[in-house]
Amino acid sequence: MTPAYMDTDIRGGEYLPVAESFYSLQGEGCNVGKAAYFIRLGGCDVHCPWCDSKSTWDAGKHTLHSVSDIVSEAKQTPAVNIVITGGEPLLYPLGILCRELKAQGFNIFLETSGTHQLSGEFDWICLSPKKHRPPLPEVLRQADELKVIVSTPEDIRWGEYLKGNVSERCALLMQPEWNRRDSAVADIVTYIKAHPEWKLSLQTHKLLNIP
Ligand code: SF4
Repeated sequence: MTPAYMDTDIRGGEYLPVAESFYSLQGEGCNVGKAAYFIRLGGCDVHCPWCDSKSTWDAGKHTLHSVSDIVSEAKQTPAVNIVITGGEPLLYPLGILCRELKAQGFNIFLETSGTHQLSGEFDWICLSPKKHRPPLPEVLRQADELKVIVSTPEDIRWGEYLKGNVSERCALLMQPEWNRRDSAVADIVTYIKAHPEWKLSLQTHKLLNIP
């Protein structure tokens, strides 16, 4: 069950609400700078106060698209990488979308808060956890990248706690919350210098106005 669409509407993931899709560069995280086709699904029940994608929250505002249409639109671009993002994409069963994208040879990157069960096969899972809705243990274990958004020093402490729950191969990143980036960057830099297993992630698409 999704917030606005019934299982019968999305038919096991054959149809998904798409808020927007576009071809650009990944602006943040481990895959920063790579060209990617973004599929932003509508619907999110996490409701972070600083969310920069609030228009996605209400799934019912976003039309259902068939997976075959979503994939054929991606194929119109030269993309080799797909970013499935939201909203919270794991609100929906993603197995069919991933299978059809894989059949076309795409690499699939997932961006998730980790608050819902994983479905689908991914080449890269970026977990951006939220303190007010902690991620599921299974998503923590399978994450390739832990990207902690930092507003205050308390977020840094929480990131350190989460580090103990991810796999050894998981990359550890801290990213300043955009609206508090000046103070947060200072805290992050001090922390990373003392804990060099972490690295800084910046929202380069916002800093450089990457279209
Ligand atoms: Fe926004 Fe992501 Fe938080 Fe949902 S999980 S409210 S889309 S930042």
